[in-house]
Amino acid sequence: MSGMHENARARDGVREVSIIGGGTAGWMTAAALARLIAPLGVKVRLIESDAIGTVGVGEATLPHIRFFNERLGIDEAEFMAATQATIKLGIEFRGWGREGDSYIHPFGDYGREAGGVAFHQLWRRLHAEGKAGRICDYSLPVVMAEQDRFAPPAADPRSVMSSFSYAYQMDATLYARFLRAFAEGLGVERVEGRIVDAALVPDTDHVDHVILEDGRRIGGDLFVDCSGFRGLLIEGALKAGYEDWSDVLPCDRAVAVPCDSAGPPSPYTRATARKAGWQWRIPLQHRLGNGYVYCSDHIGDQEAADDLLSCLDAAPQAEPRFLRFRTGRRRRQWVGNTVALGLSAGFLEPLESTSIYLIQAGITTLVELFPEGPVDPLDAAEFDRVMALEYERVRDFLVLHYFATERDDSPFWDRVRTMAIPDSLSHKMELFRRRGSVVQYKDGLFLEPSWLAVYLGQRVVPEGHDPLADRMPLDKAERYLAELRSQIRRTVDALPRHEDFLKRHCPAAAA
Ligand SMILES: Cc1cc2nc3c(=O)[nH]c(=O)nc-3n(C[C@H](O)[C@H](O)[C@H](O)COP(=O)(O)OP(=O)(O)OC[C@H]3O[C@@H](n4cnc5c(N)ncnc54)[C@H](O)[C@@H]3O)c2cc1C
Repeated sequence: MSGMHENARARDGVREVSIIGGGTAGWMTAAALARLIAPLGVKVRLIESDAIGTVGVGEATLPHIRFFNERLGIDEAEFMAATQATIKLGIEFRGWGREGDSYIHPFGDYGREAGGVAFHQLWRRLHAEGKAGRICDYSLPVVMAEQDRFAPPAADPRSVMSSFSYAYQMDATLYARFLRAFAEGLGVERVEGRIVDAALVPDTDHVDHVILEDGRRIGGDLFVDCSGFRGLLIEGALKAGYEDWSDVLPCDRAVAVPCDSAGPPSPYTRATARKAGWQWRIPLQHRLGNGYVYCSDHIGDQEAADDLLSCLDAAPQAEPRFLRFRTGRRRRQWVGNTVALGLSAGFLEPLESTSIYLIQAGITTLVELFPEGPVDPLDAAEFDRVMALEYERVRDFLVLHYFATERDDSPFWDRVRTMAIPDSLSHKMELFRRRGSVVQYKDGLFLEPSWLAVYLGQRVVPEGHDPLADRMPLDKAERYLAELRSQIRRTVDALPRHEDFLKRHCPAAAA
């Protein structure tokens, strides 16, 4: 282990990376750098404190995690068995537009474009005339989820089985443990100990070394702050500042409790709107994860816990755990030679399972910009630009779920239904209302089908449709939709049950 850092080394380039924290963010970073950067001659170490522990929640993911694991060379079946993982085809939203409503936001497409016209435009034209079913009926992953069925997607773009993707529902603590073994196997050095201070290179914003409780000093040319909500380096030492988004995302607490499984695990996560927030239900192989994300202005901790416990599917396996957070992001995520990833970089509530994705996006961007020479402020600026866009686009998408509601049954829903929303979101909603156009980006996480799912699922209905959709004769369009729908049904009927897929592909050991 190195002692005090020598400043001269930084001028030669990054030879040593010190990761602060061993939660999901820390071990994802360690595993990725060990695989992708260490072969260039860079030493990777991770410092964590068992006494402090991790945040201990996080179960639902997005399909991007598959590409992260693949890039690292991780075997899917081994990973799924080790993390008690199930398949996730999307999220079911209950009671968001109105009480009693339900829709699934799938990882996949609605229909197929026909003659250069977006499918949803064609659907909108027919639906207005009562000649089309729910848009969900034209989405393979929605029908798969509703029927608890799963088989991996096909590569052939002509097959309807190529029209979806999938993610996992897993135990993120087990994932961190899995990645730890992986990273240590690739030579990552793990240092156990509690950091009590950090020293900067005089007159700079570069961290020179961190100081452990027992007096050890540990240096590095680049530090990755994965220390969780506390942001030990990025805020504690470097005062990056925090942009608070609680005006548009006012939930600030959560209570979590696992319970026994109540039947075979469904291949989707559920988010049910509640009086002062929403409740998650995430089926893993060995249990159900549950939690209530709420706004402390509108409900007390005890009432939230009682509400959650009263609507579990089966017996709780532990005492409820309370968590507090403030929605927003660090004003700068890369300062000097420190990059913040994970909860130390910001937090957006887990409504669309975006936290692990944002860690992954940060790692990918860091690897792309990894300094060849000395740490360069230009790289830091570019990193911040890319990550700011990622966070803002996720924020807008989350805000849409709250704002696009007709609920008026509690002060919480009155508040979010009438709040001022970011201009960037007003613009998107206006365009959709006018003629069903979904604003598209080159970068950014959520693509057209995701926006469509929430708009239509929460009763944001376009006034009209793209005139191009009128070019196809009505009877032909009707036949096209009917054939698509029955093709999806036939395909899903022939698929294995999700439960059987898990048993064959990746059975986990009993907990
Ligand atoms: C209620 C809730 C629900 C969530 N659900 C999801 C979900 O479904 N999907 C999803 O993608 N994400 C979810 N998340 C987010 C997810 O939990 C985190 O993004 C993820 O676990 C990463 O956390 P982390 O590694 O940044 O921080 P942590 O897990 O807090 O880890 C911090 C690490 O830093 C170490 N550390 C801290 N201080 C010191 C010190 N002084 N010295 C030494 N070590 C130190 C700790 O020991 C620990 O190892 C959820 C979060 C919350 C709050």
